[in-house]
Amino acid sequence: MKSLIRCLWVWMPILLATTPARADLKVATSLTDLASVAQFVGGKHVLAQSLCRGYQDPHFVPAKPSLMKAIQHADVFVSVGLELDGGWLPLVLPGSRNPKIQPGAKGFVDASEGVDVLEKPVGTVSRAEGDIHPLGNPHYYADPKRLEAVADHLAEVFSRLDAANAADYAANAKAFDERMETSLAKWEQEMAPYKGASIVTYHRNFVYFAERFGLKLFGNVEPKPGIPPTPRHIAELAGAMKQAGVTVVVYQPYYSAEASRELASKAGGVAVEIATEAGGLPGTDDVFSKFDVLVSSVAKALSGKSGGAQ
Ligand SMILES: [Zn+2]
Repeated sequence: MKSLIRCLWVWMPILLATTPARADLKVATSLTDLASVAQFVGGKHVLAQSLCRGYQDPHFVPAKPSLMKAIQHADVFVSVGLELDGGWLPLVLPGSRNPKIQPGAKGFVDASEGVDVLEKPVGTVSRAEGDIHPLGNPHYYADPKRLEAVADHLAEVFSRLDAANAADYAANAKAFDERMETSLAKWEQEMAPYKGASIVTYHRNFVYFAERFGLKLFGNVEPKPGIPPTPRHIAELAGAMKQAGVTVVVYQPYYSAEASRELASKAGGVAVEIATEAGGLPGTDDVFSKFDVLVSSVAKALSGKSGGAQ
């Protein structure tokens, strides 16, 4: 029941509120945030849907036949890139038997192109160690400003595929960027009192958010991206947090609330469930409301801390 209700949060707004009578472009994406940006940029000419729901781990989406079927008539597919969806997209795309959206085709978009990527690895990357960020950190959609680059990129792609509506796509992207700039000024003001504060995140998916708002990342509940925490890791991290006065742990709906709460409680702090993907929690239906809720949750958690690492 819980998952059904969450399902409706994601699909109702995207499909009902903005569905055009007849879409000129059917756009599918691997992530809800990309579908949200695509819908803003495409406006009445586009129908956008995401394969991964906001409450699912975007690294590990089951490659079900229903996903392949959902994109068999898509004109465009927008991937996060940087191998965020690398575990399942290489199965789902060929499974759709849709030649228009295969990598290399005009309808395939790598949204990370044109985005300033953090944590690009130097030297050889050993996947044997379980690293699921082999090309750099793929969670750039946690930074409002980087979504403006995605919007501009999508406007170019949509204009190439549907030249008749190019002026609308350019105008919509400009309006998106302007709204994001105004919103960002508000979010920066909300986060200003916590500049330099340290937090712990479950997964290493907060680097772009931390960089934008001046937070320090103290550690992660999972010892390495994609590797579940051990009791020893939790105990050591809790000890280090206590010593440094770090009290806030954040985790997404698809990560272990239990491990996050255990760590927070051992460190004398709080664990807060957050959505970094649109649709992950109530009231986060598009990228703007996602950041509204995310910024206020993080600010509220940090406001309650006593002491803390500076
Ligand atoms: Zn990741």
